[in-house]
Amino acid sequence: MSTLEGERYDAVIIGAGMSGLAAGIRLALFNKRVLILERHNAPGGLNSYYSRSGLRFDVGLHAMTNFVRQGVKGTPLTKLFRQLRIPCEAFALCEQYGSRIHFPDVQLEFTNDFTHFESQIADKFPHEADNFRRLVVALKAFDETALDYQPCGAKDVIKKFIHDPILTDMLLLPLMYYGSANENDMDWAQFVIMFKSIYCEGFARPFEGVRCILRELTKKYKSLGGERKMGLGVKRIHTLNTHAKALELDNGSMITADHIFSSAGLVETLRLCDDQPPNTGGEHIGKLSYVETIHALDIQPSALGWKDTIVFFNTQKEFTYRCPQLPVDLHSGVICFPNNYHYVNDEPLEQGWLRITALANYNYWKSLAPDAYQDAKTEWFTQLTSTALNCLPPVSVDVLKSHTVDIDMFTPTTVERFTGHLGGAIYGSPQKNRNGKTHLDNLYLIGTDQGFLGIVGAMLSGISMANYHVLKND
Ligand SMILES: Cc1cc2nc3c(=O)[nH]c(=O)nc-3n(C[C@H](O)[C@H](O)[C@H](O)COP(=O)(O)OP(=O)(O)OC[C@H]3O[C@@H](n4cnc5c(N)ncnc54)[C@H](O)[C@@H]3O)c2cc1C
Repeated sequence: MSTLEGERYDAVIIGAGMSGLAAGIRLALFNKRVLILERHNAPGGLNSYYSRSGLRFDVGLHAMTNFVRQGVKGTPLTKLFRQLRIPCEAFALCEQYGSRIHFPDVQLEFTNDFTHFESQIADKFPHEADNFRRLVVALKAFDETALDYQPCGAKDVIKKFIHDPILTDMLLLPLMYYGSANENDMDWAQFVIMFKSIYCEGFARPFEGVRCILRELTKKYKSLGGERKMGLGVKRIHTLNTHAKALELDNGSMITADHIFSSAGLVETLRLCDDQPPNTGGEHIGKLSYVETIHALDIQPSALGWKDTIVFFNTQKEFTYRCPQLPVDLHSGVICFPNNYHYVNDEPLEQGWLRITALANYNYWKSLAPDAYQDAKTEWFTQLTSTALNCLPPVSVDVLKSHTVDIDMFTPTTVERFTGHLGGAIYGSPQKNRNGKTHLDNLYLIGTDQGFLGIVGAMLSGISMANYHVLKND
């Protein structure tokens, strides 16, 4: 046996995040011998969970987008359940109370009923109501999933319909925070995907949070005979001409596979290849990263008057979505209350939770020595909390402190550590590769850098790439 031969699989998947698990299920459903390799001990990438001092922290999941009620056909969520052969009840999704886009002089509420959003726009922006309706008609007629789509900026397209820059910014803020790898603008197809998934469909969450989704995905994968190795990453992809010949793992062992799917990211995957491929330069690494603060509370947020599910806030006249010069951009962000969903029988979560997300500067956080890093976390945790409190029904910092039982905060370096995405780029590279192809004929991208973002998007990415590159040829 040559040194480049090891155990052989039909398909190997790099990463046990949402896209990797979904691709694994899809391939295993068609009797492929599949192996998922994950560098960390837990699945889910950063969209995972941990326990500390008896508290169960959820990272990642604010909300599952794309929620539709049972019986609604032909939507991404129904396609997802059908393709994975998982019953929709398995995710036990509960609907949001309602969310809000908060700007200095105007607010727009939205729920899982699109007509409510339309009436909010007619109410707050009466001069734009017809234009908004025309925008909706145009985006509903657009095929945002076409694999041969040529990217173009969303702002230029929106401008053809909406003339009020504040409404444009308000529409963009939630969609950018939940799914744009581009600074200052957003790709039009991605805008359409996110618009439909957030405004036309909606938000939901399982009572148990992301644990429930990961448990169902791993259960299904294992039941189909799918194999996985946790705590074992891919160190190198050995190539021969235009073919990925073998995978060298962190422990030095070798694996061979007919097909390799990577959720590690574009540059990250290409840098694993030993043939020095193009497109591995820093310019392809995403610049957008986040911090998130987490307060665990001894009280339900609604008892403090906080009844929104998610608040997307902007404190300036204009909304800017770019890597900030300061460590954290305090001008905009997302406030999430995982408690504020319609759980079965109104059962409350054991703990109250307040999570605040904002844009952050990776280079700053990366440059800090351990002590300075802790100090910076303390300082920016405080600043971000007080900014967010100004966008919520009034509760003083002291009252919040008196109800806080634990806190945590992640930074861009945490994102990088748990997802492997360089620069802590939440949504990966601005350069997406819709058909998943790379310079090697049997190596494909899935997940973040294939271009379907978010939890539902990542799962659909894994499914569609498995179908496109392997199953359609069977
Ligand atoms: C903080 C945060 C909050 C979010 N909140 C939401 C939300 O509320 N709703 C929503 O829809 N979306 C949310 N998202 C986005 C969503 O989580 C992601 O778009 C989606 O989970 C990406 O999945 P993925 O499979 O593409 O990649 P990832 O989750 O990044 O998974 C990649 C996996 O590959 C592994 N890996 C990388 N390199 C290697 C290697 N060489 N060898 C082995 N393994 C490797 C990593 O360890 C990781 O587990 C959030 C993301 C973050 C970071």
